[in-house]
Amino acid sequence: MPVNEITAPQNVCADQLIAAIPGVIFQFHRSHNGHMYFPYLEGGGVALKHVDRDILAQNAGGLVEQLTGSDHPKIMSAIERSARWMLPLTTRFRLPFPKANPHWIAVSARPEPVTDGVRWNGIMMDISDQVTEEQRLRKLCDTDPLTELPNRRKLMVHLTQLASTSTRHGTPLSIMMVDIDHFKRLNDRWGHLHGDDVLKQLADKTQSLLRCEDMVARLGGEEFMVVLPLTPLQQCHTLANRLRQAISMHDFGMGAGHVTLSIGVAEYRCGEPLTSLIERADQALYSAKDIGRNCVCIMR
Ligand code: GH3
Ligand code: MG
Ligand code: MG
Repeated sequence: MPVNEITAPQNVCADQLIAAIPGVIFQFHRSHNGHMYFPYLEGGGVALKHVDRDILAQNAGGLVEQLTGSDHPKIMSAIERSARWMLPLTTRFRLPFPKANPHWIAVSARPEPVTDGVRWNGIMMDISDQVTEEQRLRKLCDTDPLTELPNRRKLMVHLTQLASTSTRHGTPLSIMMVDIDHFKRLNDRWGHLHGDDVLKQLADKTQSLLRCEDMVARLGGEEFMVVLPLTPLQQCHTLANRLRQAISMHDFGMGAGHVTLSIGVAEYRCGEPLTSLIERADQALYSAKDIGRNCVCIMR
């Protein structure tokens, strides 16, 4: 149909239409004194079922304070930034639901200055399914499928964050580079599937021996890295020896003593590139192999 023949629909009622959409249209107001409320809040979907719109029309402070975890400060700083620079308000938060998991809500709104504060006109959408899918994909992206340990990518992100904290606060940070000894022989003797099982068991056993703030990741093949925040070199060396000993005494299904580890340890020097730290730990690992395996070496 030619464009000029399209006629405006006569029988669409805006109120009915808004109540039927799978989202929320709102106007949000923040006064100069910090008072917040929703002059307008309408829409469909489940998001509005458990909120009291009459209260929110008077005061939205209670709802914002109910938000879980880091969502409260996150929302408040997003509102502040949007108000200060007149930038679009774009964020997401978890809306608590009675007797159910919180729902993820995405907000997109445009601010405008008004006499007694700032007013936003915008929309909210329930994006819980999308967030669940994002979390599934992120886990896939960050996880080694065989051992379910974090992979190299996840480890490097984590290590980068820890190194920056260590540089900022001058706190110690150490790593262990771990390699199974003669793993090729083990595969040849017991079969590749059993080799896979050793890798899985080693991952579980190593995790059980570490503190919850430490991270063990599979770098690839039979090589692992352990990252230990707030840990100086000497303490890392002691922990590495404890791990090495525990593994050498563990029965991986073919009797104890068939799986041993060589480990290189190194401590982060404030401000150095991560490649230098990893190189030192690698050199320490080579030394451990050279000395005869089933041992721990330090590279200062
Ligand atoms: P070294 O003591 O010098 O480290 O000797 P190594 O045999 O452990 O080292 P090498 O690099 O020669 O061989 C590593 C072996 O690890 C060869 C490869 O088949 C095996 N491997 C790598 N990834 C996997 C895996 O996912 N599953 C199994 N079963 N084996 C793997
Ligand atoms: Mg090896
Ligand atoms: Mg290796």
